[in-house]
Amino acid sequence: MSLIERINQVEQQVSEACRRSGRNRDEVNVIAVTKYVSVKMTEAVLNQGIRHIGENRWQNAEEKWRALGERGIWHFIGHLQTNKVKDVIGKFQYIHSLDRLSLAKELDKKAAALNVNVSAFMQVNISGESTKYGLQPEQAASFLEEMNRFKHVNVIGLMTMAPFETSAEDTRPVFRGLRQLRDDLNQLAFTPEPITELSMGMSNDFEVAIEEGATWVRLGSILVGKEEE
Ligand SMILES: *Cc1c(COP(=O)(O)O)cnc(C)c1O
Repeated sequence: MSLIERINQVEQQVSEACRRSGRNRDEVNVIAVTKYVSVKMTEAVLNQGIRHIGENRWQNAEEKWRALGERGIWHFIGHLQTNKVKDVIGKFQYIHSLDRLSLAKELDKKAAALNVNVSAFMQVNISGESTKYGLQPEQAASFLEEMNRFKHVNVIGLMTMAPFETSAEDTRPVFRGLRQLRDDLNQLAFTPEPITELSMGMSNDFEVAIEEGATWVRLGSILVGKEEE
């Protein structure tokens, strides 16, 4: 399939998932995850009007960002080591993997130095798999409360990764759990404004994630494909 065909097909699947769950199409943002593809393919994606680009490692992203940075809105979706914050701050507007206070502190410090703000998703390990990064759900409330002191890091929502399941339907409880956690946190009202965003759903499970309230889906292989480099 060509890139255009893949984009059209994903768009149709996103629209149908919205319709099934009574949501407006514009509540769901698609991030093209370009970690498996070249600068050239990333440029082709931008040329198709997709603006949100996701990368999980600075080493993979650097060449693309240097060539195309200003054309996109960049999302850091992978585990972020504290010593890599200096590389990504000021370049990536969104961090999807905020999972510890030491990281928040470093993001805030480096963002303050550049006089920029960064939008962050608290990554929560809903599935409980030991291989997954993220806060435990029980830690989320106190973490969110602590985040008020970091003026350059705005927590806008929550992120999770579901376990890989042969049937996407089996991921539903994980996505539902993240949405419930968001709603519970908003009941406790730790933030001046409610947190609204849910970053959840990848190529194999994004339709279920949308049905459960995803506002950002992170799509790699199904949308931009995979290239051997
Ligand atoms: C790679 C990656 C994705 C996209 O993966 P696909 O299955 O190819 O859609 C989404 N989120 C994160 C955190 C990733 O690392």
